[in-house]
Amino acid sequence: MLKVQGLEAFYGASQALFGIDLAVNDGEVVTLLGRNGMGKTTTIHSVMGIVRPAAGSVEFDGTAIAGWPSYRIAKAGLGLVPEGRQIFPNLSVTENLVATAANRHGAGRPWTLERVFEMFPELNSRRNSMGTLLSGGEQQMLAIGRALMTNPRLLILDEATEGLAPLIRQEIWSCLARIKAEGLSILVVDKNVADLLKLADRHTIIEKGRVVWAGTSAELAADEGLQARYLGV
Ligand code: ATP
Repeated sequence: MLKVQGLEAFYGASQALFGIDLAVNDGEVVTLLGRNGMGKTTTIHSVMGIVRPAAGSVEFDGTAIAGWPSYRIAKAGLGLVPEGRQIFPNLSVTENLVATAANRHGAGRPWTLERVFEMFPELNSRRNSMGTLLSGGEQQMLAIGRALMTNPRLLILDEATEGLAPLIRQEIWSCLARIKAEGLSILVVDKNVADLLKLADRHTIIEKGRVVWAGTSAELAADEGLQARYLGV
């Protein structure tokens, strides 16, 4: 579904990515792991067209999308849940969701307000609350709901559970498991490797803008040295 090959990116003269290879197959959950500042966000932003790739290819369902503007990439079926959530603070929960609603076919049944509220009952009970009045967990659910309203086929989450309490984190993971069961593919950045071992099929570790390891949950779980070396676990 998503195939990234030899991706390079720069900020001015400073190179951040040195040839990233990454793939997400249909229905898979894949992680992007690595310590702070290793290039995870830059990789996601290059895929989404927020950072313009300097070299390499990004294919989505066989179509080359590298260099496309973000809105067109979103329209092609990639939904981003950005780091820091970035919900609209002065809009209500419902208005936040309606703002991104797309009249476009994604994976399976189209997402509607009702479906998002079914997925996140907490949001339903706060549907008229302003974005700023939500808790961190509710904001993250809203950010995911907002991305779902674009009917994506691939959902990309940057720091999916950053700053959330363990119980809320588990809620987010169980929602992602249900979203996966609905047929979406997911690419996720997060620091809670132990949780991701359960949720994800495959993992990619990035170190200083390069992929240093890729493998399955079973392989990653079995290699404590690897986790200590690159993830500080
Ligand atoms: P984190 O988990 O802290 O977000 P990350 O793995 O997502 O880290 P990136 O944010 O992709 O890492 O950063 C990769 C490198 O690019 C870092 O060296 C960072 O300092 C640099 N960088 C990121 N954004 C910019 C920017 N807007 N301008 C200049 N350099 C940047």
